Amino acid sequence: MNNKTVLVVGGAGYIGAHMVRGLLDAGYDVVVLDNFSRGHRDLVPAVPLVEGDLGDTLLLNEVFSRYPVDAVMHFAAYSLVAESVARPLEYYRNNVSSTIDLLEAMSRHRVRRFIFSSSAAVYGEPSVAGAMREDHPTCPTNPYGATKLAVERLLVDCAAAGILSFVSLRYFNAAGADASGELGERHDPETHLIPLALQVALGMRKRLQIFGTDYPTADGTCLRDYVHVTDLVQAHLLALESLLGGGDNAVYNLGNSKGYSVREVIEVAQHVSGRTIPTTPAERRAGDPAVLIAESEKIRQELGWRPRYEDLKTIIETAWLWHQREAGREGAAAGPPV
Ligand code: UDP
Repeated sequence: MNNKTVLVVGGAGYIGAHMVRGLLDAGYDVVVLDNFSRGHRDLVPAVPLVEGDLGDTLLLNEVFSRYPVDAVMHFAAYSLVAESVARPLEYYRNNVSSTIDLLEAMSRHRVRRFIFSSSAAVYGEPSVAGAMREDHPTCPTNPYGATKLAVERLLVDCAAAGILSFVSLRYFNAAGADASGELGERHDPETHLIPLALQVALGMRKRLQIFGTDYPTADGTCLRDYVHVTDLVQAHLLALESLLGGGDNAVYNLGNSKGYSVREVIEVAQHVSGRTIPTTPAERRAGDPAVLIAESEKIRQELGWRPRYEDLKTIIETAWLWHQREAGREGAAAGPPV
């Protein structure tokens, strides 16, 4: 026990649920706020759980009055690039307006530490070859990235006004699952590459579409930097300790400095699962940059972040364990075939 309480907003989602577990393991008290629009109740362990929206001012006041919140971690955002291109208003409403509501409530209740789930999408197309540092120009190519950048800027302004201190963490491609196999990546509908590939491996889908085979990369498919969800959690814990200890406001990249193409990911997924994953070429997906690779030296140097699951094979192995169990659970819930 360390007598500190963290409000995890969006604690029923993929990364939020892993965070809740990481905080509990580290001895923090946790309160979860989630509206279950994208999260899953069964991923939240036995902690105080408040169901509702960030736009519900009365509810937020109640949460901050009732619990002695020392810091807030904010995972409650829409995060699908293609969807954001089609539905920008919903993305700005949910990702920006709701965050303003949350920050206002924090300000009213003098809760001063904020850890924000930002994204590599703030950068847009890299203007340099290879990995991007935090000082790379930010020029999002899709509304999702624009909403993350807007909140980052808002946090800088709030910090300058003495309202709060913050750490913004720019995740590259979150992947993998808790080593226990009890928590993992479950989206509905699923749109992410690794879960979809593993669902094809499990026979739950016939084939995987490869979005774009004519990118200016070695094999024509997009390069992404995959970072294990447990390593993301560790980075949040370090950011939290830093803010609780009076550390500076900061923006950090979280990635492994290595890009894998879509085809490489599929190859590793076939190897790990021992199954063939049939693919089909498809149009580029709107808003997808060709290459996103992180330079994460800053958080390693300043906070001592040491990712434990850097290797893509290990990342996919943990995801495979979860997906096999998940498929078993779904099969059991459906009952015997009739
Ligand atoms: N992708 C793909 N087929 C799919 C899903 C994703 O080719 O069915 C590609 C996508 O275009 C991107 C990469 O895989 O280049 C990672 O996409 P994902 O949706 O997993 O994460 P994002 O990069 O959008 O955060």
